[in-house]
Amino acid sequence: MDFSYRCTICNASYDITPDRTVCPVCSRRQEKDQPLTGVLEVELHGTLSAQFTVLDMLPVEPRYFPSIPVGNTPLWEPENIRRSMGFGRLFIKDDGLNPTASFKDRASFLVSAAAKKFGIKDITLASTGNAGSSMAGVGAAAGQNITLFLPKTAPPAKLVQALQYGARVYRVNGNYDMAYDMSLEFSKQKGGINRNTAYNPLTIEGKKTVSLELVSQLGMAPDVVFVSVGDGCILSGIYKGFRDLKKLGRIDSIPKIIGVQAETSDAICRAFVSGKFENIPTSTVADSICVDVPRNGIHALSQIKRFNGEMMTVSDDQIIQAQAYLSSSTGLFTEPAGAAAFAGFRKAAERLDPESVIVVMATGNGLKDITSAALGIQVPETLIETVEEIRGT
Ligand SMILES: *Cc1c(COP(=O)(O)O)cnc(C)c1O
Repeated sequence: MDFSYRCTICNASYDITPDRTVCPVCSRRQEKDQPLTGVLEVELHGTLSAQFTVLDMLPVEPRYFPSIPVGNTPLWEPENIRRSMGFGRLFIKDDGLNPTASFKDRASFLVSAAAKKFGIKDITLASTGNAGSSMAGVGAAAGQNITLFLPKTAPPAKLVQALQYGARVYRVNGNYDMAYDMSLEFSKQKGGINRNTAYNPLTIEGKKTVSLELVSQLGMAPDVVFVSVGDGCILSGIYKGFRDLKKLGRIDSIPKIIGVQAETSDAICRAFVSGKFENIPTSTVADSICVDVPRNGIHALSQIKRFNGEMMTVSDDQIIQAQAYLSSSTGLFTEPAGAAAFAGFRKAAERLDPESVIVVMATGNGLKDITSAALGIQVPETLIETVEEIRGT
């Protein structure tokens, strides 16, 4: 199997080299405060033997992989929810069980492997929190130097995590979009590899591994996948995995993907309707999907349209309630951005076929942001000293 990059806009092909990020031609039309133009995708050439594995479908050889067990996350069969909501074939993919507790490890893993292959030790990125703590952790396993630009609003656990893993962290007095631009400027000055989501094509490619796992865990492609959406890279990664499997003759059709955004951070939803991206300041309790300008917006939108996917929104209140309901009925505690996908499933449930195979992505662990999680529960305020004080319970 051979691999190259292909521009998702003009279809030009490029070799996979460390300095190749977005399409050099299409990115000349990049406008400020707009999604990236000319996002590149990895293209597979050739065929694979019948027993191929996920590793054969990645553009970096396994000998460069960092020694950290990313992926192969469990697929839950939530019995209580299946019964109470009437979906007998509902599954939850728990990507909070990755080493740094979020889906982002899938992208960091491949970027780290590519850096090693190219003999580069320095990796820079901007992050709302999870991509940064993920790259820091995976980079620690690989012995790489990670520089992270983190917006001031990042939950403390994600900051502490990145520092624990030994990353150099710059806290940006602004939002994720500002951190994104600063990290690009830093990379231009200092060199190394930039892992910014979508800007580095291997981020989407790494994320495709989840679809390959789903098909092998289910023994078939699911009918519907719910995923929360910020920059739109996980969504594109999920499509990429299914598209590669279809190209290789492993599955017959591409599942319906339903992207879920927060009502108050819904740039891709709005563009789905209006056809254009507007830079409107956003905020949501789900920090990992709080994005003003979705960097992968153009590519994500074209995938959803081409494969008949959908975009929908949920309120912060629905996210917080879905999070607590999921925790208390399954034992799976996911962060608000993870719960957004489940909130989307709950909102869409009545128009779904109860017989269909549905996968809800839980993208990050709940312990990453306990301040938000506390909004959905009652924390006891009084302290007790004797059992006699417990009355009426
Ligand atoms: C990053 C992230 C998302 C959204 O992924 P995008 O590629 O930005 O759309 C969702 N959930 C969690 C927990 C994340 O960290």
